Amino acid sequence: MSTHPAPLSTWARNVSPSPTLAVDGKAKAMQAAGEDVCSFAAGEPDFDTPEHIKDACIAALRGGKTKYAPTPGIEPLRQAIVDRYASEYGLNAVPAQVIVSPGGKFNCYLGVLATCSPGDEVIVPAPYWVSYPEMVKLAGAIPKFVLADDRTGFRLTPAMVEAAVTPRTKLLILNSPSNPTGAVYTRAELLAIVAVALKHNLYILSDEMYEHLIYDGVKPTCIATLSPEVAARTITVAGFSKTYAMTGWRIGTTLAPLPVAKAIAELQSQMSSNVTTFAQFGALAALKEKEKTGAALKIMLSAFDRRRRLLHGELNKIPGITCLLAEGAFYLFPNISSFGLTDVEFCHRLLESEKVAAVPGSAFGAEGYLRLSYATSDEIIQKGVVRLARFCGTLAR
Ligand SMILES: *Cc1c(COP(=O)(O)O)cnc(C)c1O
Repeated sequence: MSTHPAPLSTWARNVSPSPTLAVDGKAKAMQAAGEDVCSFAAGEPDFDTPEHIKDACIAALRGGKTKYAPTPGIEPLRQAIVDRYASEYGLNAVPAQVIVSPGGKFNCYLGVLATCSPGDEVIVPAPYWVSYPEMVKLAGAIPKFVLADDRTGFRLTPAMVEAAVTPRTKLLILNSPSNPTGAVYTRAELLAIVAVALKHNLYILSDEMYEHLIYDGVKPTCIATLSPEVAARTITVAGFSKTYAMTGWRIGTTLAPLPVAKAIAELQSQMSSNVTTFAQFGALAALKEKEKTGAALKIMLSAFDRRRRLLHGELNKIPGITCLLAEGAFYLFPNISSFGLTDVEFCHRLLESEKVAAVPGSAFGAEGYLRLSYATSDEIIQKGVVRLARFCGTLAR
């Protein structure tokens, strides 16, 4: 008998833990230890879930909605999701195309699993959301990164996508508005990019998690509305976490062509079953009680917008930092490459010397940047940028 247990699987040994959760965790631990930390690391709204959504969940719990529900979601919620795609985008779909999953992250993973076999290639635009490469690898597929830096506003051009396609390419991931850059593609830009996907018969995973967190009067584009051909190969992921401050509820949504939706529901039936039944009634209230939800969203959006402009203005006053004004999500992605140290080193020293937490761009596949979340108070933003400026002043350029 061996004295050591056998090694863990290749999946377990190859997966990287989420660097964003790690920085946020370290900042929270420092705060808990009584340190005065300014954290720009949060990946979630700093608001609480609106009351009417909580009330509906509590009523469902008290009313005995405590049993298994259909795997792809309770019927009224799937219908409400179809209705909202119709009213927001004029998109026609049926409830069988909708799958409600335990968090948008899992919706994304199931979308990859339903379309990719081992050895298939997936085009992942960088800077990317940290989970895409890991999900692709867990499906046995191969992420192919295409970097779009601040010179193109963090947006891919069709030529960049075309250059990354090989005979093995199966899936193109798109995420607009983007985490980590906040960049939003125009409808025309997306039309040109999906044309490349159509030409090579690729599936598209469109992560539209931040569709409602968008500023300056810009309208989000639901990629599945671009044409019936595009809809026939697009898996749209969205959810409740970011829009309605419901990150802890773990509810995300997929809208997919029928055969893909059926495959995703079957995968989910073996991997997690339904989302917590009474939580789904909260999500239903978020969609049904439109006036209350709209009012709550408006308050959050105006706070995010104010902080976005505050942070953007202050960052660009710091010699050596340049930052684009992103139109969506709640992140800015300033360029710090002029300081001549790696972004990991920059973040490490910033946290040690000034107790300011930021996530290095390299965590998102883009060295030389920081991801700063402005889902935090105006006061923290103001205090944090003063410290950041002081820190930058100590660096040679
Ligand atoms: C937060 C986030 C998700 C998933 O959110 P859940 O909390 O799992 O619902 C998906 N995609 C992006 C880009 C995100 O930032």
